[in-house]
Amino acid sequence: MKNKIVDSHCHLDFDDYSNDLDTVIRNAKLNDVEYLLSISVNLEKFKTIHNITKKYKNIWCTTGIHPNNVQKNISDDQFESIIKQLKENINKPKVIGLGETGLDYFRESNNKINQIKLFEGHLEISSLTNKPVIVHTRNAESDTISILNNFTKKKNVRGLIHCFTSTKEMAEAALNVGFYISLSGVITFKNAKDLVDIVKYIPTDKLLVETDSPYLSPVPNRGKRNEPSNTKFTLEKLAEIKSTSVENMAKITTDNFFSLFKEI
Ligand SMILES: [Zn+2]
Repeated sequence: MKNKIVDSHCHLDFDDYSNDLDTVIRNAKLNDVEYLLSISVNLEKFKTIHNITKKYKNIWCTTGIHPNNVQKNISDDQFESIIKQLKENINKPKVIGLGETGLDYFRESNNKINQIKLFEGHLEISSLTNKPVIVHTRNAESDTISILNNFTKKKNVRGLIHCFTSTKEMAEAALNVGFYISLSGVITFKNAKDLVDIVKYIPTDKLLVETDSPYLSPVPNRGKRNEPSNTKFTLEKLAEIKSTSVENMAKITTDNFFSLFKEI
């Protein structure tokens, strides 16, 4: 295949790859997955991720705090210091986005107030720097929609909903505020019929593909450790859903990625 594929969301700093990261990255290339965006989930490991981007030309990263890593209690001083660190990180070379941030009431809802506060903090920095925000949302659709709607009424912000497995209302709301929608291996799962129906409705010029590796390995590798090379299976399924060739879908999703992450 001549068209290159982007894995727009992977976690290369996770311990799952501590023994064979070189091989994993080589394997991605061998499968035409040429560009990787490694996503931060906390501030503690930002340096590790950033070092990976320094070592490999084809890898970029983000800075952010996953909603499940948000503390229940954050003082005003701590909040200020988090925002300051995010602002410092985002200005470093090869750091092209904010996140992942957002809301997750599935695993944790007793830190709701701070999840919301930090989500808005990421949106604010994203808007200030014009770097896209990567949004995670799980069991929190209505709050996610109202925060995005309210924020975009006041300010410009660009971004995407990552690992989309949500409702049609969530997809519509994201598209209405100009966001992209990134699909993971979940679309290849047998029980993904409702999701596939929603994907049919999403315009192709708003779609990206990702692995969210090491999680969510697509069919036929379901259950095994996921890695960026598996983006091709998600892309194949997406091409099938959209009744086009894999080549064409690779070109479209890669072009979409570069339109969103303009600075690369
Ligand atoms: Zn993730």
